[in-house]
Amino acid sequence: MTEFPRRGVMLVLASPSGAGKSSITRALFGDDRKIDLSVSVTTRAKRTDEIDGKHYYFRTVDEFEVMRANGELLEWAKVHDNFYGTPRAHVEEQLASGNDILFDIDFQGTLQLYEKCRADMVTVFILPPSIKELKSRLERRAQDSAGTIEKRLRNAKLEMGHFREYDYVLVNDDLEASTQKVRTILAAARLRRDRLRDLDGFVKDLQDQIDSI
Ligand code: ADP
Ligand code: 5GP
Repeated sequence: MTEFPRRGVMLVLASPSGAGKSSITRALFGDDRKIDLSVSVTTRAKRTDEIDGKHYYFRTVDEFEVMRANGELLEWAKVHDNFYGTPRAHVEEQLASGNDILFDIDFQGTLQLYEKCRADMVTVFILPPSIKELKSRLERRAQDSAGTIEKRLRNAKLEMGHFREYDYVLVNDDLEASTQKVRTILAAARLRRDRLRDLDGFVKDLQDQIDSI
């Protein structure tokens, strides 16, 4: 099969907290070896089931400020009173070597990436089927205090107002169906003409073959 070398895709998944972004991400990683996760730096407290360096790089506010001042972050934002940012180096290496990267970042970060690397990106916004279901998912996840859940729900209203800024919008009723839709979006993004290398040479060669008939 003819396959062209290509630049990696930046796949951004965004949603109000609890809509199912992490679940879709986990399901995607289960069967796709070409995609890697961008591990963000955060100043928020580590949850009990999180591992430093895997889920986030947990850093102090001072450490975060140093990274930001040194230009080590591709984007950064304050979300729910904590700082979050994307380390730049890993992203640049992976894209150049044709590997895709998945970003779990908020709308502020997405808008910053649009400014810098729109052509590399495809973005998906995930909505919950209802707010009753969103609340029950947050409660079922049982990782945050009642106060934190309350804050996340209030923030959901603001987040959802940004759905128009994304290329695709999904309602996550069924996890498997939503994951399949994200796979389809990624598959199409991988095939985009502007991402493929060596296409000029291939077409030129086809044209030359016509000339030599
Ligand atoms: P997010 O990463 O968007 O904050 P999570 O993926 O952690 O959300 O999902 C929040 C909770 O909802 C988890 O307990 C997860 O198992 C559950 N969940 C996710 N998607 C669905 C779905 N389609 N149907 C039912 N429960 C879901
Ligand atoms: P959580 O604390 O639940 O892990 O994440 C809270 C929010 O911060 C989510 O909306 C998540 O997408 C966002 N977030 C996580 N990492 C980053 C990042 O590096 N940059 C930005 N802009 N947002 C992030």
